[in-house]
This record gives sequence, C-alpha cells and structure tokens, in this order.
Amino acid sequence: MTNCIFCSIVKGERQADIVASKEECVAFKDIQPKAPFHILVVPRKHVASVAEMEDGDAPLIGQLIRCAKVIAEESGIDKTGYKLVFNVGRGGGQIIDHIHLHLLGGWNNNEPPANI
Ligand code: 5GP
Ligand code: ZN
Repeated sequence: MTNCIFCSIVKGERQADIVASKEECVAFKDIQPKAPFHILVVPRKHVASVAEMEDGDAPLIGQLIRCAKVIAEESGIDKTGYKLVFNVGRGGGQIIDHIHLHLLGGWNNNEPPANI
C-alpha cells in the first residue's frame, strides 16, 4: 500500500518510537498521546480498517490484543488497568486507514476519562 503512514513505520521508512516489533505486529508511541501512556499496535499487513477486514484477517486482531497485553504488563500499566480501542471509519474517529489498536493507560488516581 503506497502512501500509508503506518506501512512506512512498519517498513522502517518513517521514524517512530517503536516499543515492540514482532512477527505479525509493530507497536509504537502515538505522536499525539491522548493518555499518559498511549501506544498504537498495528499489523505488518496493510488492512485499512476493521470494516475492511476479510475472513482471513480475523487472527490479526487477536495478535494485536496479545501484543498490547504484553506491552501493558511490561510497562506496568496493567496494574491499574487500561483501554484498548479500535476507531472505525471517519465517523468513528479513524484518521489513519491502517488498522491500529490504541493502548491507553497510566492515568492518575485510576480514573481514566469516560471517553477517548
Ligand atoms: P485514529 O484516529 O486513526 O484511530 O488514530 C490515529 C492515531 O495515529 C492518532 O492518535 C494520531 O495521533 C496518531 N498518528 C498520526 N500520525 C502519526 C505518526 O506519523 N506517527 C505516530 N507515531 N502516530 C501518528
Ligand atoms: Zn498501511
């Protein structure tokens, strides 16, 4: 996929603060964090959104969640809890058309905002 920012990060062509690089997934810090701890977990394969998934893409979602879980544990945010969010389509707040799982956490007082 040409002109995809997250494909460029996955290929190492665009700078990002990468926190995990696995066979199926790459995780990096969000450039405009919406929480004290905000990571994006993306599949190496370009799939535009959850709405664009094909039958064979379903395992990718489990891999993204598993990767996020490990990062949450390694960073310690799992101790107070975290959010996992997929935005789908413009009306759902999606601005980058390459599936990504938002991992958000690290709020004070264990009180995350009601909405992201
Ligand atoms: P969306 O709104 O599509 O669910 O989330 C896209 C996220 O990607 C946003 O939170 C935005 O801050 C982040 N983002 C956009 N461009 C870049 C970039 O070039 N690098 C990084 N690390 N994050 C980006
Ligand atoms: Zn892409």
